[in-house]
Amino acid sequence: MVLSFDELLSLCKTRNLKMTPQRQWVLECLHAATEPLTAYELLDVYRKAHGSGEAMTVYRALAYLEKMHIIHKIHSQNKYKLCDLDHTDSGVQLFLCTRCHNTQEIHSSGLQAILNKTAQANGFQIEQSMLELSGICKECRSDV
Ligand SMILES: [Zn+2]
Ligand SMILES: [Zn+2]
Repeated sequence: MVLSFDELLSLCKTRNLKMTPQRQWVLECLHAATEPLTAYELLDVYRKAHGSGEAMTVYRALAYLEKMHIIHKIHSQNKYKLCDLDHTDSGVQLFLCTRCHNTQEIHSSGLQAILNKTAQANGFQIEQSMLELSGICKECRSDV
């Protein structure tokens, strides 16, 4: 799902996100980016655009947007990406290509159901479910 920035903003509205100029700016930046960005890269762009910028403002905006599932943190890379799909469930799986660094977001409800069941059997309550699977993407596999 590729949304225009306006569509993305109205999605945020539908989900009752509280937007601030900083949060909107972070979204705009990730929306324009062709690949996931680190918080530091975002801060760098922010400072270039605004002359200065408190690191905490950018970090707080990232934390909020992540909590609202509008963006996802790729923990193994310490980067952030815009959510590809309109989903509110917390189960997310990411395919990370080790060659072109392409990130593909998928949601397997079957997989999530197994995880939930396994957690339940162990008396564990899952709060956040993010699986990162690295490998070679379809495009990279086809141009051998
Ligand atoms: Zn997502
Ligand atoms: Zn690839």
